[in-house]
Amino acid sequence: MVNKRKTGIMGGTFDPIHVGHLVTAEAVRVEYGLDKVIFIPAANPPHKQELNVTPAIHRYIMTVMATCSNPNFVVSSIELDRSGPSYTVDTVRALNAKYGDKTEFYFITGADAIGELTTWENVSEILNLCYFVAATRPGCNSDLDSVINYFGEKGRDRIFRLTTPELEISATDIRDRVKRGRSIKYIVPENVESYIMKEGLYL
Ligand code: NAP
Repeated sequence: MVNKRKTGIMGGTFDPIHVGHLVTAEAVRVEYGLDKVIFIPAANPPHKQELNVTPAIHRYIMTVMATCSNPNFVVSSIELDRSGPSYTVDTVRALNAKYGDKTEFYFITGADAIGELTTWENVSEILNLCYFVAATRPGCNSDLDSVINYFGEKGRDRIFRLTTPELEISATDIRDRVKRGRSIKYIVPENVESYIMKEGLYL
């Protein structure tokens, strides 16, 4: 039997990327023995069609800036390169078609997002193509258990939980702080802070 390498897919809107995301990705990488984590900003998040999300190119650039000092982190523009809603199934299909014979994928994202997994397009196919790691803050009881139970044995085999205290940080709070002129120092990397200020994002 071939021993497959394990690679993380860090999926998120990253509006903006922050220290909570970075600590989470590194914690999952170490805990699950991943060779690397591929950050994939959602260009056109399917569940945010009515919302005012920052243009994908800004979110992509901030993700590259935030991850550039970690040799185990890479960023993919796969969802910016496709048109239409950024369905996760299309992304994991493409990665499996290219690398699936040698690689097992771990899709890392927030537990609240995974709490909605039953509504995602082609979710049973996604569960065949990757594992999920649901990142949650301590003491946070999301709908994760009911989602895991909904999928029965497959849910218990393929969906894991990882607690990260740094997830107290939230992108919503960061946008709000910028709007109110409050500091975002140390909750986003310094170069991301400079980029937000230079581009006048979240004002
Ligand atoms: P969201 O609904 O904005 O986020 C829900 C919660 O998860 C927030 O607290 C968020 O914190 C946190 N979170 C998001 N990404 C995270 C990450 N990588 N690590 C740790 N916490 C994270 O979720 P989203 O960011 O828009 O989407 C998450 C992923 O799910 C994306 O890859 C998206 O494409 C995918 N998704 C796919 C479908 C579909 O295929 N139909 C539907 C929904 C979501 P912050 O706000 O601080 O980031």
